[in-house]
Amino acid sequence: MQRLTGIGVSPGIVSGRAVILIQREQVLRYHVPPQRLAHELARLEASRERARQQLTDIRGGVALRRGPDMASIFDAQLLMLDDPMLVPRAADIIREQRANAEWAIQRVFQEFSAVFDEIADPYLRERKGDVADLVGRLKMNLRPGMATPRDLLRELDEASVLIADELTPSLVAQIDWTKVRGFATDAGSRTYHSAILARSLDVPAVVGLYDASRVIQPGQLVVIDGSADEVIVDPSEEVLARVARHHDDRAPVSAAGHDRHGPAMTADGVSIRLDANIEFPDDLAAARYAGAEGIGLYRSEFLLTGIWRGATPVGPVSAVNNEDQQYEIYRSMLEGMAPGPVTVRTFDVDEDQLARPLADGWVADAERAGRQGLRGLRLSLARPEQFRVQLRALLRAARHGRLRIMFPFVSGVEQIREARRMVDETAADLARRGEPMARVPIGVMIEIPAAAYTADLIAREVDFFTIGTNDLIQYCLAVDRADARVSDMYEPLHPAVLRMIVMVRRAATRQRIPVSLCGEMASDPALLTLLVGLGLTDFSMTPAAIPTARQVLAEIRSEDFRALARRVIALPTAQDIERELHAALGGLLAGRKT
Ligand code: PEP
Ligand code: MG
Repeated sequence: MQRLTGIGVSPGIVSGRAVILIQREQVLRYHVPPQRLAHELARLEASRERARQQLTDIRGGVALRRGPDMASIFDAQLLMLDDPMLVPRAADIIREQRANAEWAIQRVFQEFSAVFDEIADPYLRERKGDVADLVGRLKMNLRPGMATPRDLLRELDEASVLIADELTPSLVAQIDWTKVRGFATDAGSRTYHSAILARSLDVPAVVGLYDASRVIQPGQLVVIDGSADEVIVDPSEEVLARVARHHDDRAPVSAAGHDRHGPAMTADGVSIRLDANIEFPDDLAAARYAGAEGIGLYRSEFLLTGIWRGATPVGPVSAVNNEDQQYEIYRSMLEGMAPGPVTVRTFDVDEDQLARPLADGWVADAERAGRQGLRGLRLSLARPEQFRVQLRALLRAARHGRLRIMFPFVSGVEQIREARRMVDETAADLARRGEPMARVPIGVMIEIPAAAYTADLIAREVDFFTIGTNDLIQYCLAVDRADARVSDMYEPLHPAVLRMIVMVRRAATRQRIPVSLCGEMASDPALLTLLVGLGLTDFSMTPAAIPTARQVLAEIRSEDFRALARRVIALPTAQDIERELHAALGGLLAGRKT
């Protein structure tokens, strides 16, 4: 038996047989003796021909299902296959440097990358993603025996646990979660996007394990304990008995008899709004089932991840540019959630993510979460044409339900003014086209400290605030939320964080605009009670957290927690605050994991 310690990001304990998924493969260089050069060149050529066949097949399927626009991504890759700078250049490297084909093709990609990085035109620069995809395919074809992620995912059955070096959102989207009992990854932290997804799927998960994907062998029996931050390899009988007991004891949440619909209510009669955070249009059903009143955060950028559950692939470029495709998605969400509101956050991506091709998915979450550059609303404003496409699709969809539009990663009033001006212009254009629409509330995420500090100024410019504590905490505390080395300093109860939340709440109250909080903090019942004490009454959280939140809220008196909040806000450390909070909760959360 071996215990591996990580960060439990989704509670519960399960056992299962390991399916190992390693995506980050190093390309090794080895020397090819002269008599093997012809063989090496033939391997390269065979890989190209396989790629041609694969791309032709994929292209045909996509053209049939999604039309010629989508299929053109693969036309471009087919053309590149015959580019003299790609395969012939790799062949030269094999001959001149006596290198293996994998290394040669990787080398060519590095040369290509350097050229692409210098191109000023952002559209052309983005084509680097297509080359990366094609090079990945050529490398994969050089090892015909090597399993692809898709092959491995086919190995999953109802008794599987998934162990991966990392889980990118696009991979998460391809997995049939009914066949995964739990998962564990080498990379990651609590607010890692895949962790957020695991919680929403109610699958126990432990991340940040460093080398689980190397230590655990395929088919080995593994216990994943998301509540105790550990993974147990080859568990003892005693551990397995504990897993079995846990499942016997697990009563469905609804057994508590609380009404699953309508606003949640504290014991002293304060009504609390619980909305859902969703990443995929088909999460709507889970949100409704959990009793969400509306969608408080739809992370629309997941449309760009290439593939989403249960639907046909939507490529990054086409989804960004295809107004009708977006319109249909927003429309069906608004209709599906009516009469509840749907808050669509405009794309929160950076340039690299926008450039990623279909098969490659996004950059690792670890990279993504740390991004402080041209991201969110900043990127949208830098790409007005693409932004207008999203705004037009949203405004056209608005008449099908209660839409709210929200801008991410805002750091100043001038950005909001510019974005609002674009919304007004887009609305005027649509009206001229004979498509007038109702006024749509426009809000912002408060997730950069500058926005929190100027919340009083920003409040005059918008219709609502949503506090994004995932980013706010990391930027307030200068702790990269994806960096495991400092993730224990990522502290939602830090006095600075609580004070910022209060500051934003007050600014909203003074300006009489609604304020909600949609960060992961809200999914933790203990933290939720303190947030209620800080005066917040609107939350948006992962759907799976809603029933527990409702139950816990029904058991507390908001008045008691207001008094507690007044006391703890003056305490010097997060530990002091946590102690007081747990004392106030008494046995309320005992045995109940968040
Ligand atoms: C946040 O920053 O709190 C948030 C909800 O947005 P995301 O986690 O998608 O960055
Ligand atoms: Mg954010």
